[in-house]
Amino acid sequence: MKISSLRAYRIWDSRGRPTIEVEVRLHNGGFGRGITPAGASRGTHEAVELRDGGEREGGFGVRLAIAQVESVIAPALIGQDASDQAAIDRLLIALDGTPNKSRLGGNATVATSMAVLNACANSLHVPLWKHLAQGRPVQMPLPEIQIFGGGAHADRRVDIQDFMVMPVGARSFDEALTICADVYRAAGDLMKRRGSRMGVADEGGWWPDFKTNEEALDVLALAIHEAGHDDGTALISLDFAASEFGSNGTYRLGLDRREFSRSEWIEQITEWVSRYPIISIEDPVAEDDEAGMQAITTLLGHKVQIIGDDYLVTNARRVEAAHAAGCCNAVLIKPNQAGTLTETLAALERGRAAGWGTIVSARSGETEDVIISHLAVGWNAGQLKVGSFARSERMAKWNEALRIERDHPEIQGFIGRTALPQLATL
Ligand code: PGA
Ligand code: ZN
Repeated sequence: MKISSLRAYRIWDSRGRPTIEVEVRLHNGGFGRGITPAGASRGTHEAVELRDGGEREGGFGVRLAIAQVESVIAPALIGQDASDQAAIDRLLIALDGTPNKSRLGGNATVATSMAVLNACANSLHVPLWKHLAQGRPVQMPLPEIQIFGGGAHADRRVDIQDFMVMPVGARSFDEALTICADVYRAAGDLMKRRGSRMGVADEGGWWPDFKTNEEALDVLALAIHEAGHDDGTALISLDFAASEFGSNGTYRLGLDRREFSRSEWIEQITEWVSRYPIISIEDPVAEDDEAGMQAITTLLGHKVQIIGDDYLVTNARRVEAAHAAGCCNAVLIKPNQAGTLTETLAALERGRAAGWGTIVSARSGETEDVIISHLAVGWNAGQLKVGSFARSERMAKWNEALRIERDHPEIQGFIGRTALPQLATL
């Protein structure tokens, strides 16, 4: 299954910024495409995203990264066996030769890695999820869906980034989406009645026109109630993305005009967890705050999922270190944080080995690409995060997961509540 050609092109993402797509062709006729997404609240230790800088295209150009694919990656990969993903990714890592993909760009390597995988599945005439599952039993993942988008996705209108729901009471993926759609609609109606429906943020969540961060929580809880799902069917999940408003053990909520010490901030989160039906929190403290992550995991880890995103950056070594230090009990999995699919899977497997939750996640800058839905099912991740329930770059992924559920009765049902061991303690 040898690679015959590999080309890179500039296309555009959901924020209207340039991104890379790589197309791979195999001698046997197989074809695959990989498209790189882009984050807005990025972890410092993520694989480097190579952008052109300067005036043109706001500095977001990808000419340099495309040139790396054309001049370094393609000559090395042409003729290689696409069915050996680990060898392809090892070669990408070696060609780059840096600890953080700063030479080739993680945006160049991840698009290549995904294109090769897609080409391989395509030439075998199997859906990608099935190619990844390799006959192992898999379940449909529990989705978490954004209702209000804040932080870096909404010009910091509120400080907390994602106000989401988890439809833990659903019995199928299809029903899970129906429940989320009910809450999204109810929240939109509520915002309209309040005179604060101002469109949507970057991932399709309603624009967070609130006076305080806590008011967003109140309206979310009310939306769950008005949608009729406040019987434990739909619970709240928050991504604080706290590196955006905290460092050196100090946290500042700009909207609330309040500053918190580490312990005051943890107290605030604990109080919210006791007053609202919150089952999951992501990056509750900043990426440099190990003491804070340890404290919050000890305090809340038995009843709340505590996800590391910027904190772990889809890095197996960081997952291992966090586990050893008693930090986090779940890991967000984003391929472009790692730069290759093999490294992405290693982080997921390290999390799974620790007994952690694993959540395959899109970025805030996305395209019509749906690989993420296949990775979540094929790797049996248990959870899937792709933003809200609007905007076609989001809906494409939810709809693809629906098709996977609908067309493949060999999938072992929907994971539901068992995705979250913390629910057993409630
Ligand atoms: P990002 O945000 O893609 O803008 O980094 C997503 C997240 O924090 O989960
Ligand atoms: Zn996050």
